[in-house]
Amino acid sequence: MNIQELDKKYVLPTYARADVEFVSGKNARLTDANGKNYIDFTSGIAVTSVGHANERVNAAICKQLSNITHISNLYHIGPQAKAAQKIVEASGYDMKCFFANSGAEANEGAIKIARKHGERDGAIKRYKIITLQHSFHGRTITTVKATGQEAMHNYFGPFPDGFVYADTIDDIAGLLDDHTAAVMIELIQGEGGVQPQDKAKVQALAKLLKDKEVPLIVDEVQTGAYRTGEFSASQLYGIDPEIITLAKGVGGGVPVGVVMTSLKEVLGAGDHGSTFGGNYLSTTAICEVVDILNEIKESGELNATIEYFNAALEKFCEAHKETFTSKVGIGLMCGLRAKDADTLTKVLNAARENGVMVLKAGRNTLRFLPALTISNQEIDEGFSALEKALAIVEK
Ligand SMILES: *Cc1c(COP(=O)(O)O)cnc(C)c1O
Repeated sequence: MNIQELDKKYVLPTYARADVEFVSGKNARLTDANGKNYIDFTSGIAVTSVGHANERVNAAICKQLSNITHISNLYHIGPQAKAAQKIVEASGYDMKCFFANSGAEANEGAIKIARKHGERDGAIKRYKIITLQHSFHGRTITTVKATGQEAMHNYFGPFPDGFVYADTIDDIAGLLDDHTAAVMIELIQGEGGVQPQDKAKVQALAKLLKDKEVPLIVDEVQTGAYRTGEFSASQLYGIDPEIITLAKGVGGGVPVGVVMTSLKEVLGAGDHGSTFGGNYLSTTAICEVVDILNEIKESGELNATIEYFNAALEKFCEAHKETFTSKVGIGLMCGLRAKDADTLTKVLNAARENGVMVLKAGRNTLRFLPALTISNQEIDEGFSALEKALAIVEK
């Protein structure tokens, strides 16, 4: 049986897969099983932040694997302690880390911290978590309920209680009550359609929550690890949240999740854990990825790439006014609003056929999440492939 047949026979059909199998990659380039080449503007949905087959990350992992892959969290783990230091220092926040294996698991940890913090808070039990409509926080029973998308709550109930959805950031203040344990938001909604929040509104909300002593959880699973140009989008927005979650880009392709918090005393021994979380393999990857990203930030290379990519995207948007209405996003988390969902599907298919990978977000947004190490040459090639795709769609 070939791969497609094996997949069909043995793998549950939870993904609507495109009919392509990639077999090799290098930075922002991929090659499929037929030998066809692509420019990757998706980096595995913001995961391969330092590109495919990054030599430094691979060397660090191989070196670690030739020694110890996993022991358990019952003992000290050198690379875990170092990864925590690197993450905390890059963020500039006075926080501590807990290591998990995915974005959803990181958000679960964040919710547990907020809930335990709420229980300690005197006589009134604080358990409600306010999230936003069109948010995305993960696929576990709790994080799918935290996700403000009705369609995702169709099955799987009963869900944990206490999730409250605000239509917009303006509505959060009105929903706060004596039972609110935390507010959880994305600063740029990713899956919801590349939707950045207004900076002044976020700052006002953060201040209000500080006054009311309600922790703010920022889900930076997609925006974290320099995706916006800063280590965390929270820094870019100039806020000081109590809890930040990271995952996707911070492991460079190795499955990781991180909860960072200034509420350092809430969880104690036995309150939370994860068998694989923070093991030698995954935290060695984090250490090398964060080092590389710190270096390209400090050298100015990251900011130059962000400028170059956004200029190319702006030009592309201007040239296709009949297909796209506007450019959205921050840093290397960008999108183009297509005039309708049908056009977007055509663009996605034509792009892949012409050798460039892009993503869909929300109903009608074409999403770009390239590796933060993408070269100008790769960017140019990707946009010329997109021009060819648009020539077909607009014909
Ligand atoms: C992808 C994503 C998640 C879920 O991460 P998983 O690793 O798939 O569990 C949660 N929140 C945000 C903002 C995301 O983009």
